Amino acid sequence: DVVVQGLSKSFGSNHVLKALDLRVPSRQFVTLLGPSGCGKTTLLRMIAGLEKATAGEIRFGDRRVDTLPPGERNIAMVFQSYALYPTMDVARNIGYGLEVRGTPKAEKQDKVGAVAKVLEILHLLTRKPKQLSGGQRQRVALGRAMVRRPDIFLMDEPLSNLDAKLRATMRGELRRFHLDLGTTTIYVTHDQLEAMTMSDLVVVMNEGVVQQIGTPEEVYGKPANLFVAGFIGTPP
Ligand code: ATP
Repeated sequence: DVVVQGLSKSFGSNHVLKALDLRVPSRQFVTLLGPSGCGKTTLLRMIAGLEKATAGEIRFGDRRVDTLPPGERNIAMVFQSYALYPTMDVARNIGYGLEVRGTPKAEKQDKVGAVAKVLEILHLLTRKPKQLSGGQRQRVALGRAMVRRPDIFLMDEPLSNLDAKLRATMRGELRRFHLDLGTTTIYVTHDQLEAMTMSDLVVVMNEGVVQQIGTPEEVYGKPANLFVAGFIGTPP
């Protein structure tokens, strides 16, 4: 399980996370929902080891995740900003993590091809990021994370730039990837349909704490408090 215990994070006087507790069971698909600014991205970045906690800790199994050396944690994060390498083509952007790990070329090509097929970007492999649309870049960023077959897969609104049809397809593909790999997925979205249809568990956050965690049916059917009741069902 990914266990977050008493996690606090402040940026100056801005107390973003306030002794947050959360347990994400292994192999579950967990969605973080909450208003803009409530700390969802900050929480993901901390699980990825990209931000230091002000207090508290994050464990994966019996190890501290936030202090594990990068080589020892197989955690992949897809950022809202994509963060692609501008000078590399799409194939190399996706395969770079494998390249760094010394994966043989043929194996790398096979793996890159397989994720590019799933993401419907096979025809873009020789392009540079600046020659892509926002939605295409978003899928390259997803591919780069998926090709590493992460134990923990963190995604920050990974489908926000796609049209409705592609988004529906990708919801299915991400869910399938999650199940095939047996990965633990933590997913941030503003799209309540995504949360409802993809998740094993939904976590509703507000003001730096967890307001409720439950199955989509529990959260939608039995909101724990007025905040959850008001937030759920309100169009984003
Ligand atoms: P959204 O849904 O809009 O993406 P969010 O829930 O992901 O929002 P965060 O991005 O985690 O929210 O931001 C929470 C708060 O932390 C915001 O008030 C933001 O301004 C602040 N914050 C985040 N990162 C930094 C940083 N590096 N330095 C200073 N403040 C930060």
